[in-house]
Amino acid sequence: MKQLETDVIVVAAGLSGLAACCAAAEGGARVVCFEKASTTGGAANMGMGPLGVGSRIQREHMIPLSPIEAFRKHMYFTHYHVDPRLVRDYYFKSGDTIDWLCNMGVEFVGVQRAFGADEATRPYSDGEFTWHVCKPEGGGVPGPRAASGMMKKMTEYAQSLGVEFYLETPVKKLIQEDGAVVGVIAVDKNGEEIECRAPSTIVATGGFGDNPEMIKEYTGFEFGKTIFNFAVPGMKGDGMKMCWEAGAAKTPIIMEIMYQLPDNMNHFIIEGAFRQPCLWVDRNGNRFMPEDQIGNTTFTGNAISHLPGKVAFSIFDSKALKRYKKHGPDIISHVHPHDLYDHFDEQWERDLAAGYEPIAQGDTIEELAKNAGIDVDGLVAQVEEYNAMCDAGYDELFEKNRAYMQKIEKGPFYCCRQTVGAYGSLGGVKINHKMEAVNEDARPIPGLYCVGTDACSIYGDSYPFVLSGNTMGFCLNSGRIAGENAAAKVGF
Ligand SMILES: Cc1cc2nc3c(=O)[nH]c(=O)nc-3n(C[C@H](O)[C@H](O)[C@H](O)COP(=O)(O)OP(=O)(O)OC[C@H]3O[C@@H](n4cnc5c(N)ncnc54)[C@H](O)[C@@H]3O)c2cc1C
Repeated sequence: MKQLETDVIVVAAGLSGLAACCAAAEGGARVVCFEKASTTGGAANMGMGPLGVGSRIQREHMIPLSPIEAFRKHMYFTHYHVDPRLVRDYYFKSGDTIDWLCNMGVEFVGVQRAFGADEATRPYSDGEFTWHVCKPEGGGVPGPRAASGMMKKMTEYAQSLGVEFYLETPVKKLIQEDGAVVGVIAVDKNGEEIECRAPSTIVATGGFGDNPEMIKEYTGFEFGKTIFNFAVPGMKGDGMKMCWEAGAAKTPIIMEIMYQLPDNMNHFIIEGAFRQPCLWVDRNGNRFMPEDQIGNTTFTGNAISHLPGKVAFSIFDSKALKRYKKHGPDIISHVHPHDLYDHFDEQWERDLAAGYEPIAQGDTIEELAKNAGIDVDGLVAQVEEYNAMCDAGYDELFEKNRAYMQKIEKGPFYCCRQTVGAYGSLGGVKINHKMEAVNEDARPIPGLYCVGTDACSIYGDSYPFVLSGNTMGFCLNSGRIAGENAAAKVGF
């Protein structure tokens, strides 16, 4: 077995792990980082950008939100069910962390809370301007993967500080002596074991989005049946299991809920096209929320998770499709292409011919209901009631914005089944505000830190969309704080 010795071990080179590497190395520590995948960056390669409060960019844009206001807003949102000290330290660090990234050469297009739709329908319209959206490498409009350039810069910066990366070398076990974590056992791509020892180990393995058993056990959802989350390969819950084994307490775990289609990245046009305030029903044909709210993916995902079969159906008619093609969507998505209706027919025909299950078409409402798997009588009755309310210009049920009260009347009719999705899991390992893993009595496990989504239990039951960019924000800042503390511990 190969033997190594260092000051700080970082388990994984995703977002929180890289932040920990950079901060610990800046603090003067020798750092060894073991990563399971063949590249660095983890799920963050797929994202768009992190939260910050009080950054240089915000000051330049005269955005006055202060860390203490963000703290209060967060605690109000979570009803004080989460650790106030941890939340406080995160927000107070977050503005400086954006400046830190800028100093590494990371570029942001600006700071966002939402996109170009009217106030009533804007996704996250009651949010603050906290989301620092990364400039895509090579330019263009930011979308999924815009943050991959940030991950590259962080990796390069860590390498320039002397961090040693071992790729395709997952950590299998923490080494514990007299209660303290003193190192790890990793296995390289040739199957050789590496024993690495250090006074501090920072675990950052990104949750269990790719582990259906753990998803079922800890959240009740069934992957591929009741939830269609991003299952980023390798996110198996390794870090959580290792920390629990070392004596760390468990926290409640949630999925970071939104809504998405199965295999959504291959059906992205269809997914985006149906995120409109048209007619949304459950499988009995009943409306269940004011459709002008469906831009809020957290709310809509939560609502769908309480419907029969955990599915919803969004429906529009040919008139609406013509209008979307001519004037654009009613709600502009913040992740889907803005010209998606130009490509709708092509993808629709292709997916329909291939039998892509979530979509259905019908020349009559009855036919649509049958093809989509909605109760026929229920949908016919709901459409009649809805159309009558459209004629009256007033939604008696939910008072939906009247601009979107458009009748469902001209076939063919189009339908897309919507399912619960998630970015991954959140929470698992109990930590304190220094990012130390703690036991049931809130006593630190000596030598052990846990950061990122493995330890992100600060949201209560739902992602706090009012302060967007929050998961990347927490991952970055928890990693950075742990890296600084671990370096300080070895006396630098
Ligand atoms: C499509 C998508 C878009 C998103 N967009 C945003 C956004 O715009 N803003 C935002 O705030 N959040 C966003 N998120 C969420 C955010 O990207 C994640 O929450 C964040 O990356 C998690 O960081 P992490 O460090 O906990 O884990 P990750 O960045 O996922 O890294 C975990 C790493 O651990 C490694 N690993 C696992 N097990 C082991 C092991 N045993 N040994 C060694 N290494 C191991 C993995 O290979 C991986 O590299 C998005 C997520 C997705 C999927």
